[in-house]
Amino acid sequence: MESIWLRNLSEAFGNGDIVRPDTVKENSPTLTDPVLLSSFVSKPAPKNEFPKEEIEPRAAYQLVHDELLLDGNSRQNLATLCQTWVEPEVRRLMDECFDKNMIDRDEYPQMAELESRCVRMVADLWNSPDAANARGCSTAGSSEAAILAGLALKAKSRQVARKLHGKPNLVCGPVHICWHKFARHFDVELRQIPCEGNRLMMSPEEVVKRCDENTIGVVPTLGLIFTLQYEPVQAIAFALDDLEEERGLDIPIHVDAASGGFVAPFIHPDLVWDFRIPRVKSINGSGHKFGLAPLGCAWVIWREARDLPDDLIFRVKYLGGHVPTIGLNFSRPGGQVACQYYNFVRLGLKGYAKVTQAASILVRG
Ligand SMILES: *Cc1c(COP(=O)(O)O)cnc(C)c1O
Repeated sequence: MESIWLRNLSEAFGNGDIVRPDTVKENSPTLTDPVLLSSFVSKPAPKNEFPKEEIEPRAAYQLVHDELLLDGNSRQNLATLCQTWVEPEVRRLMDECFDKNMIDRDEYPQMAELESRCVRMVADLWNSPDAANARGCSTAGSSEAAILAGLALKAKSRQVARKLHGKPNLVCGPVHICWHKFARHFDVELRQIPCEGNRLMMSPEEVVKRCDENTIGVVPTLGLIFTLQYEPVQAIAFALDDLEEERGLDIPIHVDAASGGFVAPFIHPDLVWDFRIPRVKSINGSGHKFGLAPLGCAWVIWREARDLPDDLIFRVKYLGGHVPTIGLNFSRPGGQVACQYYNFVRLGLKGYAKVTQAASILVRG
């Protein structure tokens, strides 16, 4: 077979003449041309202006693919704690779901059903007293989940008898940047406990010192971003119980379990940090970190229906049904949630325990 390569090369470059690539004949590339002959080879990649002409899909693919070669290798990136390896089945499901819009629950009711199942499963994993009726949702990441939880605390504080007399505040330790974003965007004071000496996290004493009648919540982190340490949720809850007894301040806890929420239940099941503590009203966790889902999946779960104020639930009419939504985003891909469900079904408690155990041994060396 005379190769397309040869035919095109001789057409493009003449017989032995040396021709600069930018003098390659106009219109010479066809859909079957090799990528090397494509128009993009002789031109810089479009960067600032919207391209005027179309190019062949293979050429466009090669161009984008090659641009991405300059990135780091994600398998060597341990810094974001996010998932960088998935089973082939997960890739298949992602491919099958790329066109399913998570928000369009009427059109894709089964996708919505998988999300609801995951909400109940995660609520159960975090020892909800009533997992079958748990309220919660998937989000793009723990940042969105944290913002929703913060908004619920804010809305809740408006409902309780105790009226705020100033700017609402949240008490926390060395939190993730998402809490700073929440505080700034939604006008909440972040009372961050500074690290001191060997104490690299919050302590019950330091928490109580900063609580007052304007405190809408305390946010311990299960798996601090710098050290992956667990902040002592139960001890903090006890200290807040005492505070309530002494001063009548009933302050809820939200646990930012972005990383620890899918670690502690599997390898430290006796650690009490979750809904076993009545004061813990909501928890977020990143499915795409140790939950092993592909990037773009986290969870926020409220303890009981009444802990998620109705103000935060929206009923969308334009997509056919009247299904309530909680998340901040509208259109969002469904594959991550389908794959999270796959992971739960595929691994179960035992499988996750094995994976997490193996990973923690690797980390400790
Ligand atoms: C990673 C992380 C977040 C942010 O989560 P994303 O899923 O990356 O948005 C928030 N809090 C903590 C403690 C984290 O480790």
